[in-house]
Amino acid sequence: SQKYVLTKYFQGEPKKSDFKIVEEDIPDLQEGEILTEAEYLSVDPYMRAYMIGYKLPTDMIGGQVAKIIASRHDKFPVGKYVAGQFGWRTHTISKPGAPQKSGFLPLTLLPDLGPHPVSLGLGVLGMPGNTAYFGLKEICKPKAGETIVITGAAGAVGSHVGQIGKNMGCRVIGFAGTDEKCNYLIKELGFDHAFNYKTTNIRSALKEGAPNKVDCYFDNVGGEISSTIMSYMNHYGRVAVCGSISSYNDATLPKVTILQPAIVFKELKVEGFLVNRWFNKWEEGINANLNWLQDGKLKYQEKVYHGFDNMVDALVGMLRGENTGKAVVKVK
Ligand code: NDP
Repeated sequence: SQKYVLTKYFQGEPKKSDFKIVEEDIPDLQEGEILTEAEYLSVDPYMRAYMIGYKLPTDMIGGQVAKIIASRHDKFPVGKYVAGQFGWRTHTISKPGAPQKSGFLPLTLLPDLGPHPVSLGLGVLGMPGNTAYFGLKEICKPKAGETIVITGAAGAVGSHVGQIGKNMGCRVIGFAGTDEKCNYLIKELGFDHAFNYKTTNIRSALKEGAPNKVDCYFDNVGGEISSTIMSYMNHYGRVAVCGSISSYNDATLPKVTILQPAIVFKELKVEGFLVNRWFNKWEEGINANLNWLQDGKLKYQEKVYHGFDNMVDALVGMLRGENTGKAVVKVK
């Protein structure tokens, strides 16, 4: 069994030399426990932001989809797949039903996914899928006919939020980092508009894409673009502050932009959230997303990296925007 241990805090982009790979023996299973072998590991933006809160050295955190290879638990038989917050490691012993270590992915048995890969347990049928589902429905609360703007729109969460928005009868506008991603959002996922935030004037884009202004903003990136979008909202607009990736790699202090007047005069509701708020309703989100998937109303793309040794390259690649949809690592 192998695992990644973080030995240095990230400075700028994560580096291989911030980690060491450690070998471990696998102990015998106790009653109620399962042994799993990682099939897909997740790389997520929170990893870049969160590690600052851990005392080093520490086992690297993260979600994975793993195959049960030994079991002393009736409901978790050998051969089935689970998703869980096991960290960057090849083998894990866990006890379904017991309180889990904190994290963003509760230990769940994956449903039968038919023709789809089990890696969806890290994407549309896992943590990002539920972030999109609950974040949009419970924080933005969009009504049919309203306009939703999404930043980070071609990523795992953003591409999913936009499709739910379309399923709910809204006008959906995305911002993403390449023209190719924008084309994909419009042509494949049905977004009404998508703009390359690196090459477009944000105000002009909003004028063109949102003639009725913005009712809901699903914010994945923070920073200047978010202030601009919030100043373009309708009265009583709702902002779901999901992430702030534009500042995760930034060592310097975040720039301060004055957006409070927009919040006051438009009476905006601005709410940050963490998806684990809805752990008690996890299945509801998974089932809703699974139904949309099976009805052809939810499409997905993945950026698959290969090999346990390439975790850091995958993390950095995702932070740089190499992915459309969810970034995952196939372990073998
Ligand atoms: P993504 O799949 O969206 O991958 C990250 C993407 O961020 C990249 O593909 C890149 O796309 C974009 N990006 C990178 N740097 C910047 C930048 N400086 N400005 C704007 N965009 C940038 O990741 P996720 O879907 O997993 O996560 C999206 C956001 O949601 C993150 O902020 C994450 O922290 C947050 N999140 C929050 C959760 C919660 O519980 N609150 C749970 C899950 C995610 P591009 O080419 O478009 O730049």
